[in-house]
Amino acid sequence: MRVYNFSAGPSMLPLPVLEKVQSQLIDYNGSGMSVMEMSHRSKPYQEINDKAESLLRELLSVPENYDIIFVQGGASTQFEAVPLNLTVNGKADYIVTGNFAKKAFKEAGKYTDARCVASSEDKNFTYIPKVKRDDFRKDADYVHICFNNTIFGSHYNYVPDTGDIPLVADMSSCILSEEIDVSKFGVIYAGAQKNVGPAGVTIVIVRKDLQDRFMPICPTMLRWKTQTEQKSLYNTPPCWSTYVATEVFQYLKDNGGVKAMHERDVEKAKMLYDYIDGSDFYTNNVAKEDRSLMNVPFVSPSPELDAKFVAEAGKAGLVSIKGHRLVGGMRASIYNAMPVEGVKALIEFMKKFEKENA
Ligand SMILES: *Cc1c(COP(=O)(O)O)cnc(C)c1O
Repeated sequence: MRVYNFSAGPSMLPLPVLEKVQSQLIDYNGSGMSVMEMSHRSKPYQEINDKAESLLRELLSVPENYDIIFVQGGASTQFEAVPLNLTVNGKADYIVTGNFAKKAFKEAGKYTDARCVASSEDKNFTYIPKVKRDDFRKDADYVHICFNNTIFGSHYNYVPDTGDIPLVADMSSCILSEEIDVSKFGVIYAGAQKNVGPAGVTIVIVRKDLQDRFMPICPTMLRWKTQTEQKSLYNTPPCWSTYVATEVFQYLKDNGGVKAMHERDVEKAKMLYDYIDGSDFYTNNVAKEDRSLMNVPFVSPSPELDAKFVAEAGKAGLVSIKGHRLVGGMRASIYNAMPVEGVKALIEFMKKFEKENA
């Protein structure tokens, strides 16, 4: 039996995609082999690789002056790749809005003069600071933000204006949940295992004019240009993960694209936040205007009740809803693949639990 999986990542995939992948598992499109067994230089894989790029470009309206690559190492490797690829003056400005933003900031400090421009750590990352153009150093090589904070459940409701300074965004947990104006960013990166596909592949969207700024010590494998020149095929790519991600892209396209996903994501998140805000039992502490559509942390009146909630929810088929250890309580990750029915089932369970334990 399939459960409603509220995991922050790896997380749910659309059932029709899993079924399609299953049907092609041992014989992909008459090739007589699985994508898992296939040379990345073979014609069928070249087609998958091309399709991955073109579908994602279409879904996010990525302009021609940006390349899209599919690489390994997760978003965490991009924490290092960003300074290694963009450092010229040796200064970078970071906005620290959560645990991943902080990790990225720390990594950058190894390679450049990384400065924290603004942070919301003073209130345990429950809001997104408002920054202005003047807050950044004029000669900063780039500004880095984490667009959706997976652990703390916050999201930018604006794109910081950095003027001519390239804006770099970690969109691991929100990519494809909303339409974005890619031209406002220099670089966008995202690990796939939150809202795209299986773990193992990382998306990097990088403006063409930013590809010649890599530091001499930048490892060949982390240099974006290595992969943009070779269309993500410099070395053996994560073929299987890229293939499944491509099937997800196709599924999104066939179901109204990012716009339709966003409308459904808004509907799901609103149902859940409205219920939490109307209840005296559950609390979400994130500033209302900065709340994430994808990750909804909440607590009950006590850690004991939180533990009981997680255990009983699991038995009711609502799994992986325990909050991150830095926040405690619960966290419902409701990415694109979470059906509306899953959120309704969660709310029904929350009502029942409240009645029994209030
Ligand atoms: C999960 C996550 C990461 C880390 O991703 P890995 O692929 O595990 O390296 C980084 N940033 C954000 C916003 C995330 O949600």
